[in-house]
Amino acid sequence: MQITKLNSKSILPLTCTRSGTCCFGKAVMLNPWELLRFSKEKKITPREFRDLYCEFGGIQLRFDGKPDKKGQKACSQYVDGFGCSVHEGRPLACRLYPLGRQIQFDKAQYIFEGTKFPCLTDCVEVLDLPKLSVGEYLKGQEADAFEKAQDEYLIIMQNIADIGFELLLDSGLAASVDMKTLAVWRELGKEPPELLVKRIGKAWLDCLMIPDITIDTENPITFAQKHNDLLLLKLQENFGSSQTLQELHEASVLIIGVALHLARGLGADTKGISEHWIETAKSHGAKE
Ligand code: SF4
Repeated sequence: MQITKLNSKSILPLTCTRSGTCCFGKAVMLNPWELLRFSKEKKITPREFRDLYCEFGGIQLRFDGKPDKKGQKACSQYVDGFGCSVHEGRPLACRLYPLGRQIQFDKAQYIFEGTKFPCLTDCVEVLDLPKLSVGEYLKGQEADAFEKAQDEYLIIMQNIADIGFELLLDSGLAASVDMKTLAVWRELGKEPPELLVKRIGKAWLDCLMIPDITIDTENPITFAQKHNDLLLLKLQENFGSSQTLQELHEASVLIIGVALHLARGLGADTKGISEHWIETAKSHGAKE
């Protein structure tokens, strides 16, 4: 698939008609702050929103509505003849659409896939609307807070993974005869979300996607930092006393699984990330 890279000044037919043609047959991924924002908009708890409208423990919005002419199912939040029922709480993926966002060397880059701009084929009325730059479009979509949340959760993903690394590299596990930990990390990267969810277990899924945080939930950075502290504390409480090689192996695997599940909710390529982490661990002495 060809990827076209854009910058904030690129001019494109980006004005959204809100006709909702982009609300069918998509995979909309969620981070925990986005799940919270949705639940507030819907006036229910994050747990209720997750259980009613999400897949895989909350990392993906459910698309189980009435299908369109192409047979693609509508988003669970789409109301026929009206459009998005939670427009103010919609996540970054919906605010950016049809653009994607990549982070390279700490810099965000906007992209779209394919050779034809999707709005022109799916939403022809866009042709009659004024064109906007990427920067103007994102401002109109109020994407800023949602981009901040996404960036904070990328940091949290790496912070969680770092503990999985420590348990492998600094505990004596990598220096032992252990050859299986990296092999399981590789499996985790390829594992479909329904299996990874089972491996992680309910308690970790809840802590990851519906944390018990009540302070300043409007601010994505404060919320994410508080969530980071909660997760790291729980990891310390659960695995700080791991001693045997088997305990260390199991802890490292579970923690990398949690980090990869969060990565998938951020729209990242879990296979690519796990391969990168394996190479990093090998360069520090781990064996496979
Ligand atoms: S959340 Fe709203 S904008 Fe996003 S796909 Fe669902 S209905 Fe469409």
